[in-house]
Amino acid sequence: MKHNLNIQPLNSWINKSGKEPLVIAGPCSAETEDQLVATAHLLAKTGKISALRAGIWKPRTRPGEFEGIGSIGLEWLKRAKEETGLPTAVEVATAKHVEEALKAGVDILWVGARSTVNPFTVQEIADALRGVDVPVMVKNPVNPDLSLWVGALERINNAGITKLAAIHRGFSSYEKSAFRNEPMWDIAIALKTLVPNLPIINDPSHITGNRDLIGYISQKALDLDMQGLMIESHIDPTVAWTDAAQQVTPAALSEIIDHLALRKPEVKGAELNDKLAELRNQIDKIDDLVIQKMAERMKIVEKIGNYKKDNNITILQVNRWDEILQKRTNYAKALKLSTEFTEKLLELMHSESIRKQTEIMNEGQESAPAEKLTHA
Ligand code: PEP
Ligand code: MN
Repeated sequence: MKHNLNIQPLNSWINKSGKEPLVIAGPCSAETEDQLVATAHLLAKTGKISALRAGIWKPRTRPGEFEGIGSIGLEWLKRAKEETGLPTAVEVATAKHVEEALKAGVDILWVGARSTVNPFTVQEIADALRGVDVPVMVKNPVNPDLSLWVGALERINNAGITKLAAIHRGFSSYEKSAFRNEPMWDIAIALKTLVPNLPIINDPSHITGNRDLIGYISQKALDLDMQGLMIESHIDPTVAWTDAAQQVTPAALSEIIDHLALRKPEVKGAELNDKLAELRNQIDKIDDLVIQKMAERMKIVEKIGNYKKDNNITILQVNRWDEILQKRTNYAKALKLSTEFTEKLLELMHSESIRKQTEIMNEGQESAPAEKLTHA
């Protein structure tokens, strides 16, 4: 069933000049006035950013971690905006946050993933927004629950907020994978199907938790026709007080944006394209899974390497390798994969495992060069 939300188009409240892609960027957290203002200047200078984000109140998993600089950061944001002209965006989690952010002239508010899970919190925020004309973005809930996401959007919309967007930041999962939060693209696509006029912005920073994967997820989001990106950027990510591994410098961000391919949904031969897109979509999903599984395999290989090191066991045990090769090729043959292909694939995987284990064995010594092992 389609949901009817009264929503204004994205470019009525952000990116009026039509930058492509639309990018909201800024540090995970405002830390110091200098850090925030200097980052904002570098971001503005790229000419590719439509709004400046910064966390002022930070929801942390464990107590005792940096919980945000608090209200003083709103003054720094004000200065960053005055000096760069960039509109500002912050996360709000309570009525008090809403009130303070609005008083300080913040242009865009967002509801964080840990708030979207809680209807009491979302309703409190919605009530504080009643009668105010401010754009609000709602992150997906931490857990993979489409209804909670839609429910939060409805609560905010029912409070009279029509400048509304969703942010897809991935979902928590107990199983460890290559991502900090599983993208579960299907849920974002389901939201799009359910509320077709709702803009969805992708947050590759919180999906990946890893700056090296941000370009990849950003491209995927654009290919799935998401309307923009929210990317964490810090003047010196290595010393960031929060989310250091996923933040990028403004220069690196600029490069990521330059490498993104902007594709238009094709018009000619729509039916053919649909079929092709559907098949490619299936392939993409499978390839993602293959890569993810490889990463999981390598994590286990690392554990084996450490175990062997602690117990003085050789890296290579020929019997074990023969057994793997035999079992897997038989299985693959039954699934109609050629033996030649399977052997090549297994050998590639195996030599990478050996390389990793050699690295572990020789930790502290000079690093092992990549080498190709051949198994006769
Ligand atoms: C953030 O944007 O810094 C943040 C805390 O994100 P999320 O709510 O997605 O975890
Ligand atoms: Mn963050």
